[in-house]
Amino acid sequence: MDSKTLYAKAQTLMPGGVNSPLRACRYVNSDPVFIERAQGAYIWDVEGRKYIDYVLSWGPQLLGHCEPSVNEAAHKAVDLGSSYGAPCAGEVELAELIAEIVPSIEMMRMVSSGTEATMSALRLARGYTGRDKVVKFIGNYHGHNDAFLAAAGSAAQAVPGTPGVPEDIVRHTLLAHYNDLDKVREHFETVGDQIACVIVEPVAGNMGLVLPQPGFLQGLRDLCTQYGALLIFDEVITGFRMSLGGAQARFGITPDLTTMGKIIGGGFPVGCYGGKREIMEHMAPCGGVFQAGTLSGNPVAMAAGVATLKRLKECDYDALEARTTKFTAELCDILRGKGQPITLQHMASAFTMYFTDRPIRNMNDTSTTDCDAYAKFWNQMRDQGINLAPAGFECTFTSFAHSDEDLERTLDAARKVTF
Ligand SMILES: *Cc1c(COP(=O)(O)O)cnc(C)c1O
Repeated sequence: MDSKTLYAKAQTLMPGGVNSPLRACRYVNSDPVFIERAQGAYIWDVEGRKYIDYVLSWGPQLLGHCEPSVNEAAHKAVDLGSSYGAPCAGEVELAELIAEIVPSIEMMRMVSSGTEATMSALRLARGYTGRDKVVKFIGNYHGHNDAFLAAAGSAAQAVPGTPGVPEDIVRHTLLAHYNDLDKVREHFETVGDQIACVIVEPVAGNMGLVLPQPGFLQGLRDLCTQYGALLIFDEVITGFRMSLGGAQARFGITPDLTTMGKIIGGGFPVGCYGGKREIMEHMAPCGGVFQAGTLSGNPVAMAAGVATLKRLKECDYDALEARTTKFTAELCDILRGKGQPITLQHMASAFTMYFTDRPIRNMNDTSTTDCDAYAKFWNQMRDQGINLAPAGFECTFTSFAHSDEDLERTLDAARKVTF
């Protein structure tokens, strides 16, 4: 069945024809293609068209699709049973690897998605501190938990404070703009004794890529310590991406709790939250804070996660960053040569080209981007076999599987775009 027929059918069966809203490609005035298979840096749609993929499942496929060691581990695991609902060795192995790579995570719990990880971390922070309030940044996305769906970035842009979220719940969510330390300080000065935690994407990746300004993360660390609140780094995107040890290793700042997802499952559904042992021991069955999951620590996902992290430990992050730096700079030059104002924001293998000449430090700044121009760019790139994020301020990724030839071919395609 072709993409058009599938999409028509899907729209009768699933809201908008999709299982996650951005996939519908509405921000780029387009329709989705249906994907049949993937390999390395490429995906193929059901029509057999090949694309160089810069979405990479929104982050997880840092090694490229179908990394042989990951697939082999998953195949082996599935032959031994797909789920037991009982402990398995893979959980211990993955936990040991994570604790080794990210030392702030002394103890952790596996879940099945990033949403579950942040939801559980928030409950733990509340249970541990006996306080209810959470400080969250406008334009940061932490999954679709009620408490975090106030001003949740471009993924949830169309529904700020979505219907269905009780006012009673979001009244405990205190907002601040990203990089606005003064506002966070003000919250602490007003209700500091009620704030359980500050949750932050240490590099923001859900309003495009926005870097923390010097002193911002340290300032959050200091305020949390001063007021006895927990600092939660949501490293669902940045974990194993900004460096092997994530953003916390790159910036040298230690959160109390960290949430992870995406890359740690190597493409399988895995999330994880963890941190200081003394805090984590408040989780049941050690402590009173409840959280559980039928498929948590799933043996197939654990095996894929272990294989992914082992492979990543051998990868040259600096080389990928250098190649990505060169590639994105050239891509921007091409677009600027066509008269488009472009602000490039980039770190490691993640980047966003905003169609604006203003620097982007927070969600407000994104309002000047030219979404129509991005849509034109996106559609013409897809027609030429280049798959970019289907929204003007989302993160775009390179992977260890992208070859110089892939990057060159992408630049050639960009040269042919007209506005
Ligand atoms: C994707 C994402 C989540 C949610 O993860 P899911 O696996 O989609 O539930 C949470 N936080 C951040 C920073 C994310 O990018």
